[in-house]
Amino acid sequence: LFTQAFGSKCWADDKCNYNEDYVEFTIYTANKTIPEELACLRTARMAEKERELSIKVKHQTAQLEYAHKELENYSKTLEEKVEARTQKLELLLDLLEDEKNKLKVMADTDPMTGLLNRRAFYKKYNILRLQRENNTTTTTDSTDSLVAFDIDFFKKINDEYGHSVGDQVLIAFSNIFKENFYATDICARFGGEEFVLICTDVNLVTNPKPLKRFLQKIENHTIYVDGISIKFTVSAGATIIRNDDLGLDQTMKIADYLLYKAKGNGRNQVVVA
Ligand code: GH3
Ligand code: MG
Ligand code: MG
Repeated sequence: LFTQAFGSKCWADDKCNYNEDYVEFTIYTANKTIPEELACLRTARMAEKERELSIKVKHQTAQLEYAHKELENYSKTLEEKVEARTQKLELLLDLLEDEKNKLKVMADTDPMTGLLNRRAFYKKYNILRLQRENNTTTTTDSTDSLVAFDIDFFKKINDEYGHSVGDQVLIAFSNIFKENFYATDICARFGGEEFVLICTDVNLVTNPKPLKRFLQKIENHTIYVDGISIKFTVSAGATIIRNDDLGLDQTMKIADYLLYKAKGNGRNQVVVA
């Protein structure tokens, strides 16, 4: 009834101006009625404000949640990208490592025969020396032997059949050389048709049988190039590597001297001392 008569905000308008008609009608004095109504209105307004605020908060929360999700997605994409990059980098590092290893092998290898070159031979010898020095407490007799090889009349092969056939002879020799000795032995091409071997834990001076067998294998081998068959032999000088300070170069000189003797004795043989 009040609402019909005085409108929804019967006692005051939106700006809280008293509605005189309402006050008169209800007989209440403005002093009594208005504070109660005002309190009501305040509560209503507060409720409305709260509602508005809650909607705002909800809206902002939703916005924040959306932003958070976006951020999460972005971070996930970023993480995936970083992961993919990391994988690529790891792959590149692996490739680089492979290349580095290949270069190391290349630097140590004689390209024609695949044997160790002179540089690598010295390196391996020094490693072996260190190992021997650190093994002073072991009681096992670890005598190592050094052998110098030189293919016999190699110049004649070159002169007769040409340099590339000579190369084939060097390759054939090297293949048999590699196969014949253990992986722990050091097989190297020292230059030209000269090769060296360090046989570890073997005294070839007291037991030269393995060397004689190897020379026999070379003698029995035939290589075929362009329809021609070629046979060749090799001479060798073998000595032991002493644990004193003789040094590799001095030991090499002894082996070379013994090789020279093998040549003088008619070639295709090994001289040990
Ligand atoms: P000996 O029995 O006394 O050892 O005689 P030899 O003919 O084997 O020795 P010499 O030192 O007179 O000749 C070695 C030849 O090896 C000379 C050189 O041209 C040749 N030579 C060196 N390196 C290579 C190479 O990589 N390929 C070829 N085909 N020949 C090479
Ligand atoms: Mg020579
Ligand atoms: Mg020779």
